[in-house]
Amino acid sequence: MQASFKTTCCYCGVGCGIVVHKDRQGKLHVEGDKTHPVNKGMLCSKGMNLHYTVMDTSDRLLYPEMRYHRNLPRQRVTWDQALERTAAVFAAIIKKHGPDAVAFYASGQCLTEEYYVVNKLIKGFIGSNNIDTNSRLCMSSAVVAYKMALGEDAVPGTYDDIEQADCIFVAGANPAWCHPILWRRIEAAKAANPAMKIIVSDPRVTQSCALADLHLQVNPGTDIVLHHAIGRALITAGHTDSSFVEAHTNGFDKYKDTVMERTIEEAAAICGIAAENIHKAADYIGNATGFMTLWTMGLNQSSVGVHKNLSLINLHLITGHIGKPGSGPFSLTGQPNAMGGREVGGLSNLLPAHRVLNNPAHRKEVQAFWGGTELSDKPGLTATEMFTALNDGRLKAIWIMCTNPLVSLPDARFAEAALQKAKYVVVQEISSKPETLRYADVVLPAAAWTEKEGTMTNAERRISYLTKVTDAPGEALPDAEIICRFAQKMGYHGFDYTNVSEIYDEHCRLTAGTNIDVSELNYDIIKAQRSVQWPYQSGNGTPRLFRDHRFYTPDERAVIHSFGDDNRSEPLSNELPLILTTGRIRDQWHTMSKTGKVSKLKQHISSSFLEIHPEDARQRGISADDIVTVTNGRGTVRVKAQLSTTIKKGVVFLPMHWGKILHNDLHRANNLTSPLLDPLSKQPDFKYAAVQVARY
Ligand code: SF4
Repeated sequence: MQASFKTTCCYCGVGCGIVVHKDRQGKLHVEGDKTHPVNKGMLCSKGMNLHYTVMDTSDRLLYPEMRYHRNLPRQRVTWDQALERTAAVFAAIIKKHGPDAVAFYASGQCLTEEYYVVNKLIKGFIGSNNIDTNSRLCMSSAVVAYKMALGEDAVPGTYDDIEQADCIFVAGANPAWCHPILWRRIEAAKAANPAMKIIVSDPRVTQSCALADLHLQVNPGTDIVLHHAIGRALITAGHTDSSFVEAHTNGFDKYKDTVMERTIEEAAAICGIAAENIHKAADYIGNATGFMTLWTMGLNQSSVGVHKNLSLINLHLITGHIGKPGSGPFSLTGQPNAMGGREVGGLSNLLPAHRVLNNPAHRKEVQAFWGGTELSDKPGLTATEMFTALNDGRLKAIWIMCTNPLVSLPDARFAEAALQKAKYVVVQEISSKPETLRYADVVLPAAAWTEKEGTMTNAERRISYLTKVTDAPGEALPDAEIICRFAQKMGYHGFDYTNVSEIYDEHCRLTAGTNIDVSELNYDIIKAQRSVQWPYQSGNGTPRLFRDHRFYTPDERAVIHSFGDDNRSEPLSNELPLILTTGRIRDQWHTMSKTGKVSKLKQHISSSFLEIHPEDARQRGISADDIVTVTNGRGTVRVKAQLSTTIKKGVVFLPMHWGKILHNDLHRANNLTSPLLDPLSKQPDFKYAAVQVARY
């Protein structure tokens, strides 16, 4: 007898529906959910192999562990021992140094309910805003840009716009590898409508370029120059929508002056592309009835990430391509639930339901709802700031939950030194492999995908339910339960939920009257409808926002922002003349603690490598497959060279997945990446570090 359960893929923000089949022996296998509106039965290689990550428990953490002194080994303890001592240590630190001496660093892979309780715990009861997540590394620049341009952190469109668009501009992204199911929908849409134009901007010729009508192989860091030049070409060719601009936006005149400052030829020279291709891109966009942009880390992970985002959104605002079928600026989320995390306020500068931290009325409202302590108006530490604060002693204790910062943070050796200095480190994890465990005073074993229930929100604002199918191994517990048990050990009320649906109901109530209102929603509705897009009102979700062209700004007009096109990345020099950019490969996910367990997924690419242009390699006496050393002042990486004309001369590429303990310290790309932050989003400049490469 086989039982089947509908759930959602836990990897990327595409949010594909999955059916998990469980046979009489408890063996699992998965298939795509043919009834799911996102993937219509399709799964990519990662999703297709998800069941192996659950069935192979050889690396799983099974019991809480604790050590009483840094020099002693950790030993198995009970949940009560681990949580009572941790509560005592946290209480002592808070008493002596204040609430800002502790922090929680969580993950875009957490379920919404997990995010909700940890955010409630630290902001509403401990009294600090020191909670941030690895979503800060992923899409915080897009969040700030949406708020600045549209008045709200809200993706306007829906995936169904893909089939209705006739021009799609993919900027700084490789969805063919990183969002494969969306890419299959784009391939199918182009096959059905060969007149559809695909533009890709990327310093590398990626798999996504194979479908492109136009590849703009720009120099790293020149995206704003490119977008401004396309804006100028659109204006000059009369492709703007003046009635939309006049009725629904502010800032066009200043924008026009700004983009007219550079000629198309000057811009083309800076970007390293042909001027005629800028005109071609503007023609494709200007002649489209449905124009979508899709972007990810190439724009977000930048020291000018917010401006890169705004410069792309501006192309929609000057052409009126927003709030209508087939149109809209669409940031693709890397993490599966980065959006759900923001809905509950799970970043250091947010409050629940997109309320604003520096708004006293919003703080009061949330405090009254939670019934805890007064909410602090001081923004908390962001992801990288937490590790700086550990290093300089301001932060004493950190609780790391569902993320592997020693592989994923920029300048990873700095982060490692920070954990060495921490007074107390809690690691809440499913796997015994991550590097952070080496520094943990307490290890709390967590339940994994299919071992707990909850909800996630994908990149198109679609909330879907994840089903519990199996029991967690050993004594592992769902993350929300761990946090609630800890809160109770701290003596806080309001964490005695009898099940996670009560947590979800509480979150929904707190959204009432906001732009993301889901106050009518509950598990029964989500399970019955399978998924809904927020806001959800009068029994209906909302696939497309801004259909009436009324934006969430005070005067309901979108804002066309103007700014310069300088790149703030670290400068190149004679010693460090090459630009290092990093990214993903097709079959691995983040730091490989799940996909690294699946042998089938290693068949595509089994080890790290450096992609380098043959001309740069020749100048350094490097041949294909030579071992090379990549260096800068922050560290070293040593991997095989892969010579390729698909990367721009002067640029080298490393995959971001490989870490230290699982693999080799010298494979960790983040030994080299830059800690520079975007001043508005605090997102790091992962895509631009100055390096030198030599034959080993
Ligand atoms: Fe999972 Fe993303 Fe692949 Fe869909 S595209 S199966 S959500 S990893």
